[in-house]
Amino acid sequence: MKRILVEVLLVLALGAAAFFGWTNWKSNTANGGQVAELTTQVEESGKKLKAAEEALAAALAETAKQVEPLKTKSLELDAVRTAMSSGETLKDLEAAYKKEKSLSPDRQVGLGAIRLLTKGSKDPATVEAFKKALESADWSGRKQVICAAQNALAAAGEKVNVMSECEGSGQPSDKGPAAKSGAHSSKAGDEKHAVNWGYEGAMGPESWGNDFPTCARGKAQAPLNIQGPFEKALFNVSPDYKSGPLKIINNGHTIQVNVPPGSKLRIDSQPFELVQFHFHRPSEEQLNGKPSAMVAHFVHKNSEGRLAVLGVLLKEGNENPGIKTLWTHAPAKEGPEVSPEGVNFNPGNLLPREYEFYSYEGSLTTPPCTEGVRFFILKSQVNISREQVEAFPFKKNARPVQPQNGRAIAG
Ligand SMILES: [Zn+2]
Repeated sequence: MKRILVEVLLVLALGAAAFFGWTNWKSNTANGGQVAELTTQVEESGKKLKAAEEALAAALAETAKQVEPLKTKSLELDAVRTAMSSGETLKDLEAAYKKEKSLSPDRQVGLGAIRLLTKGSKDPATVEAFKKALESADWSGRKQVICAAQNALAAAGEKVNVMSECEGSGQPSDKGPAAKSGAHSSKAGDEKHAVNWGYEGAMGPESWGNDFPTCARGKAQAPLNIQGPFEKALFNVSPDYKSGPLKIINNGHTIQVNVPPGSKLRIDSQPFELVQFHFHRPSEEQLNGKPSAMVAHFVHKNSEGRLAVLGVLLKEGNENPGIKTLWTHAPAKEGPEVSPEGVNFNPGNLLPREYEFYSYEGSLTTPPCTEGVRFFILKSQVNISREQVEAFPFKKNARPVQPQNGRAIAG
């Protein structure tokens, strides 16, 4: 019975994800703006939730046929639904998830689906669960869920339009497009920003919350002012970065280097793949109230879609040879990614020798400010010359420090 339940939960999660995929997937330009738009749609449309319930039930019934262990399918399915209707499953699941600091989008969607079955569409917590699922998923995260759902339903004989990026792949995050995405919502220069944001004036950080609710309402936002008392760090990090062809972009918010697969950060021996790194001026993180000249953020993702950012503070000093290479090829104006012929770069060139760090739970520091991002800010800083700082095409692209809200900082 337990195994069946787990499989049905999976089916539910896929069904719910597929619903959002069907109804809300318009093009593959989803970004933070679309997430905000979808969130509003969820709030406004009780009818859609009703439809979701039906779509879920249909997907559940259809897909369950394919689940081999469900021999007396409909009876067992009924039993499961009855079991769930008591609300105990929901309680158990919530209790189990409570131990985790943040839920993956998949689990959020699953939780929303079970809420839908047990509490119905009028329960505000159901809407909240789906909202959280949408908010917590960045573009590639959502794509992964939607691809999984599309592939599963297509395999079950459903008529589903499977996005080309999803075809024949259970783990689309291993493919190229995911590498282009990252912590920042701006993915590539050839995509128009659905919602504009910036660092000054009417589009500055104070206004991000209008289009991206988490930026204003989140309780674990980054960056932080790093100051004691510190907790003892319980694990270590070790970067293992490899040289590869340089791919660099000016996305209008920063200079970003998209990293080919193969570079990893081990966090207590768990591998996180380096996806991209980018720069902020001045550093977003502060040490006892003081920023450094700049910071490099190395953005990593593990196989579950968890994000971890390694921050290397850059202090004014000697010229940095790694930066010299990057600045030589960085486009001065916003535009598409460039890959200069024959130029290789090893991200490890920007790291200090020592990997002692400060660490805290935070968020993306750009819209949509998604939380559940672990930060490791290295204590050793590396040099960058004043001329190199001034040659960076963005005068100021740092989000102000955010309230700590009781979060522990390890260090
Ligand atoms: Zn950053």
